Parts: sequence; C-alpha cells; structure tokens
Amino acid sequence: MSTQAIFTQTTYIIAAALFILSLKWLSAVPTARRGVIAGEIGMILAIAGTLLLPQIVSYKWIILTLLIGSAIGIPIAYLMPMTHVPQRTALSHSFGGLAVGLVGTAKYYLWNQHDPERLTPFIMAVLCFEVLLGFLTFTGSLMAFGKLQELMPTRPIVYRGQNFVNLSVLAIAVAIGVYLTINPAQIGLFPIFIALALAFGVMLILPIGGADMPTVIALLNSYAGISASAMGFVLQNKLLIIAGALDGSSGFILSIIMCKAMNRSFTNVLFGAFGQVSPQALKTEERTVRSATPEEAADILLAASSVAIIPGYGMAVAQAQHKVRELFDQLTRRGIDVKFGIHPVAGRMPGHMNVLLAEADIPYDRLLEMEDINSELPHTDVALVIGANDVVNPAAKHDKNSPIYGMPIIEADRARTVMVIKRSMNPGFAGIENELYYMDKTLMLFGDAKAYLGELVKVIGQEK
Ligand code: NDP
Repeated sequence: MSTQAIFTQTTYIIAAALFILSLKWLSAVPTARRGVIAGEIGMILAIAGTLLLPQIVSYKWIILTLLIGSAIGIPIAYLMPMTHVPQRTALSHSFGGLAVGLVGTAKYYLWNQHDPERLTPFIMAVLCFEVLLGFLTFTGSLMAFGKLQELMPTRPIVYRGQNFVNLSVLAIAVAIGVYLTINPAQIGLFPIFIALALAFGVMLILPIGGADMPTVIALLNSYAGISASAMGFVLQNKLLIIAGALDGSSGFILSIIMCKAMNRSFTNVLFGAFGQVSPQALKTEERTVRSATPEEAADILLAASSVAIIPGYGMAVAQAQHKVRELFDQLTRRGIDVKFGIHPVAGRMPGHMNVLLAEADIPYDRLLEMEDINSELPHTDVALVIGANDVVNPAAKHDKNSPIYGMPIIEADRARTVMVIKRSMNPGFAGIENELYYMDKTLMLFGDAKAYLGELVKVIGQEK
C-alpha cells in the first residue's frame, strides 16, 4: 500500500470514530458543542483524505465547485434565521440527494462505456438503489422546502386513488431498477428510471401537510444517508458507507422520536394528509379571557415560591431568550424556584428550545423534560407559558375530535395559576383553539414576548 493510501485510510478511521463520538456527544446538552467540533474535524479529515486519493484527476474542477458550493452555503447559513432551520435543512438534503444521484448516474454511464465488467449485479443493485433514493430525496426535499417556506400551498394536496398512483410509480421504478441490475447495458431505460425517481419525490410530498413536514424532513435526511451509504458501496469507499449509515439511522430515529412526540404514526405522516384544517377546528366561540398588565403579572410571580416556564415557538420568533434569562435571574435571586418545561416538539425543530435557552446560558439542570415537569406542575404556583400554544393545549388529552388528540402535552393547566404571553388569540401551528386560555386560573399577558418580558423585568427590578 502506498504512503498516500495509508494516510487516506488512517484519516478515514479517525473520521469514522469522530462521527460516532460526535453523534454520542450531540445527544446531551452539556457535550453538544464538543459533538459539533468532533463532527467538523471528522469531515475535514474525510475530505483531506479523499483529496489525496490517486483517482482524483482534476483539482481545478474540485476547487471551482467548492467555491460555488461555499458561495451558496455560507449565505444560507448566515442569512436564514433560526426559525427557518427546518427549510434550510430540507434545502441541504436536496443538494445531498442531487449529488448522490448525479454521482451514481455518472458512474453508470462511465463504466457502461469504458469498463462494463465493473457493473456487476451487486454494484448495479446498489447503484440503482442509490440513484432512486438520491433523486427522490432531491425533489422531495425541494418540495418540503417550498411548503415550509410557503412558496407553495402548505396544505396537503390530495386526490382520489393517490396512494395507488404513487405506489404504482414507485413499483415501475423498482421494476426498471431490477431489470437494469440484470441487464446493465440497457442504457435507454436509465433516463426513464431517473425521471420516475424525480417524479416520485414530488408525489410523495404532495399529500403531506406543513404540520408533518419537519418529521418528513427527518425521514428525507435518513433517505439521503442511506443513499450515500449505497454510494459508498458503488465507489468502494468505506467511510462513505459508515457516515451514510450513521446519517440514515440517526435521521430515522429522530423521525420516530418526533412521531411519538406528536402522537403520529409513520403511515399517518406519509399517507394521512394531516394539516387539512377541519371546519370544526377553525370554529371559534365568543368566550372571554382575563388579561393582566406587567405590574399585575409581576406581583403574582413575586408572590410565588415555584414557577415553571414553558417556552414555545413564540419565544423563538420574538428572540426573547435573553429576557427570559433576566427574569430567571431576578426570580431565583429572590429565592423563587424556577424550572423550565421543555416539550420535545416545542418550536419548529427538535431541540429548538434547548438551543435558544443554552444561548442565553440558562443552567442545564433547570431544564426539565416533559414527563419530569408534568409530575411537578400540580405543586407549582405559576406556569408561565411563553409563546407556546399547541404543546400546552389540554384538548390533546380529552378532545377526540381535535387534530392533536393523543399528542403528549406539558400540563400547564395543572399549575395553580397559569399566565400566557402571546400577542393575540390567534392559534398556533395546528390551527386550533386552546381552552387553556379560557380557564378561570389563566391570565393572558398580551404582547410580543420580548417586549412583554422586558416590561416584566423592569417592573420586578423596581420592586423592593
Ligand atoms: P405553536 O406554533 O403552537 O404556538 C406558538 C404561539 O406563539 C402562537 O400561538 C403565537 O400566538 C405565539 N407567538 C408568535 N410570535 C410571538 C411573539 N413574537 N411573541 C409572543 N408570542 C408569539 O408553538 P408550540 O411551540 O406550542 O408548538 C409547536 C408546534 O409545532 C406543535 O404543533 C408541533 O407539533 C409543531 N411542530 C414542531 C416541530 C418541532 O420539531 N419542534 C416539528 C413539526 C411541527 P400569537 O400569534 O397570538 O402571538
């Protein structure tokens, strides 16, 4: 083995170990930063090792494409706000899927022309699998991006016999893939195979509503990983096989966690057309709510001995996490026990609240998972809900007609007093009313979360 090859294989082994450690470290808040750094170093080593491979023929093209990729990637990373991370992720998956699909296509034509012996049944099978998954991930992720960015209707687009049509398209694509595996020389069939994969990606996402889109993105992430792993077999690159498998399995596990947190099954997500707002869900009744001024809210908080803060998407929109930190400091300084209840799908991406609260340096041990905060809420004086809506909606527990029925919630309604900061009576992501706001023990604190908390902090600061 040449020195170059030994160097490449060594970087691959270290990179693979770093990817595994990265995933492990990313799964706990205190070690998450280390996880990100480990992943980055692993990726740099993987790229450096690959660039030294003797098969690399043109650094000129690599540098050019690197510059184009960076010119697209860096602005996306800097310009897209935190609240748009799901669509940003969808966009990067689509690029990943496209790259995988194109590499598979290039290898197919190249080997067909110059080295047909390499297209063994095994290589053809993984190549077809790679191309199918790669291209469907490309168009599927672009559709997911379009829906989340509201460039196209977010509601499910459904028609009769849709599942039959979708599955038929997939079945034809698979049949062509099998035929090509046995007869790789049938070059004319390959473009049809690609077209079917691209079409299936679009058709797969059409019936899925915006509400399920982040779960679907996690699933598409998993597809992109599996297709990259298949590409590893085609290119005989072990690191790609490992990294793709890690990506594929972690994306799959994440989508399972998200489905559980929303009480949705996989088949429901993929075929259920969730997100069509039923007329009943939109029905609004003339009911009154009680509201309070920052001065009144401050008095209630200062009279409490325990406060549970339940953040949601509104805290992210308002970027109110630093004001939350100030409130936390003021209350704890006065001996009030303040804890945070974190719902797994609060916000718009998994871990959304953890990231924001970590940014504001809220101590990790104050963050309680849903089950833990729920057991404390019946003995808590005040539940302060900040921009959360669906994740505290009691209808999920008892209203069988509610679209969120069965979704586990943070039971803010069980605290002695409930205060909710939001701007209006508008519904949250699921588009439904929240009976929590109408309860006798609930006070609505109307306003932008950051502005309202700013007032609250000011008032409390002035109190002796
Ligand atoms: P919701 O979307 O249910 O509610 C957010 C609330 O924040 C709204 O009612 C809105 O009311 C309020 N709000 C918006 N902007 C502001 C602001 N500037 N200041 C104060 N309040 C504001 O959020 P939740 O976090 O409760 O629930 C998340 C939802 O997203 C769930 O339905 C979940 O299933 C879904 N979801 C989450 C995913 C995840 O991974 N986290 C993935 C997919 C879906 P108003 O307009 O009156 O201010």
